Amino acid sequence: MTDQGLTHAALPPSLIGRTVLPSDARYPQVRHGFAHRGAPAAVIFPESARETAAALAYARARGAVVSVRSGGHGLSGRSTNDGGVVVDVSRLDGVTVLDRARRLVRIGAGARWGKVAQDLAAHGLAVSSGDSGDVGVGGLVTAGGMGWFARRDGLTIDRVTAVELVLADGTFVRADAEHHPDLLWAVLGAGGYFGIVTAVELEASEAGEVVFANLVFDAGDAAPLVEEWGAVLAAAPRELTSLLTLRPAAPGRPAVAHVAAVYAGDRPDSAERVLTPLLGLGPLLHQEAVLAPYQALVPVSGAPHHGRGLGVTRSGLLDRLSAHTARALAEGLASGQVLMGQLRSLGGAVNDIDESATAYSHRVQNFQLLSATAPERERFLDAHWARLAPEVNGMYLSFDTRRSPEVLAEAFPEPALSRLRALKARYDPENVFGHDFPLR
Ligand SMILES: Cc1cc2nc3c(=O)[nH]c(=O)nc-3n(C[C@H](O)[C@H](O)[C@H](O)COP(=O)(O)OP(=O)(O)OC[C@H]3O[C@@H](n4cnc5c(N)ncnc54)[C@H](O)[C@@H]3O)c2cc1C
Repeated sequence: MTDQGLTHAALPPSLIGRTVLPSDARYPQVRHGFAHRGAPAAVIFPESARETAAALAYARARGAVVSVRSGGHGLSGRSTNDGGVVVDVSRLDGVTVLDRARRLVRIGAGARWGKVAQDLAAHGLAVSSGDSGDVGVGGLVTAGGMGWFARRDGLTIDRVTAVELVLADGTFVRADAEHHPDLLWAVLGAGGYFGIVTAVELEASEAGEVVFANLVFDAGDAAPLVEEWGAVLAAAPRELTSLLTLRPAAPGRPAVAHVAAVYAGDRPDSAERVLTPLLGLGPLLHQEAVLAPYQALVPVSGAPHHGRGLGVTRSGLLDRLSAHTARALAEGLASGQVLMGQLRSLGGAVNDIDESATAYSHRVQNFQLLSATAPERERFLDAHWARLAPEVNGMYLSFDTRRSPEVLAEAFPEPALSRLRALKARYDPENVFGHDFPLR
């Protein structure tokens, strides 16, 4: 459908006042995502599950392509399109504590994780989500969720006890251990293919202050630094989760490695013991460590999206961080063609979960690797990735901009992919969701 002539008068009454059309002043602020530019015919902002179903029915009746958006930070998942309808659930952003004793919380899919952290802090609770407070609940909780407490608490999806969603036929369902458990399994890793999630229930953790360290190293000799970072993390207690970002040299500064690390505890002596080995990774340019409440690590900027994001990315999971991988990463950066390399520590509680428990089934790997560059340098990124590929074991779809079929096989290794396809045939036979990266 290309519906550029759509007018407010043509909308069903329940969606008037909820819809932004290309002729509206707000349209430039809502048309794009973080990583993708778009020109949708309409962006609809439902304020309830019922309105979400109405928006979907409206789009389907017009034969429109449907994109689902929560926080708009999708890299692989496209939450905008050209000429279709975007159902943007950002107004479904309530955060409620259902049962403080059991730490059970209910979160609207449209909330940003930074708001979730702020709202839950008032109750002394926290949910490990990711490193960005701007990322939306809906996109992350339907994919995985590698957050600052990943090694202590697992992925965000590992804490989910129920999801509520509108299916392709407009039915509203709650999926939990007793009701539609197969749908719950599918949503926890591949939710973008199954419906529009309106809310989730999770078991949060007790929140306290944490130690957040920021270290910057000269990465002129990046390979040993990367390898040593991997060794420190492999030996560290589960309270430590870290993110290593490598950037090539730029005018006026050397290549740098930025190590962000969270020690999920408030005892400075324990934190110092765990963080100190990181100080020896290489020549230090800057160091700081602060005791901070969790919500301070994930502020919300709320800036509108421009669709330029991180360029093109490749993502893969690693069982271990070898000398080969460290060298290949360092060479990619030194070539000047790869503009960012990033490693996240996993393992710990992430790997306590059985691989068949959620559609995200990677439960033996210990690191997540991402390489990024500008779109015009994609062929260099491919060559760089080919060097890394022999040690890559599966991938997290959320960090990769590729959409070729083999990517799905890496993201959902068998038997997960076949099970997802069978469920897709049952719940979304006409492929309304995830149309741009078909599961079937
Ligand atoms: C700057 C940045 C930092 C990031 N940091 C982390 C991190 O630390 N850890 C981590 O795990 N990931 C991280 N990510 C990846 C992020 O989790 C995914 O990109 C996620 O999909 C973004 O969610 P969103 O709601 O903001 O995205 P959107 O663009 O709104 O959605 C992306 C896709 O998710 C699906 N989706 C979104 N909302 C719903 C819904 N309500 N129901 C069903 N499907 C839905 C759709 O398929 C949609 O196309 C980061 C991404 C960026 C850009």
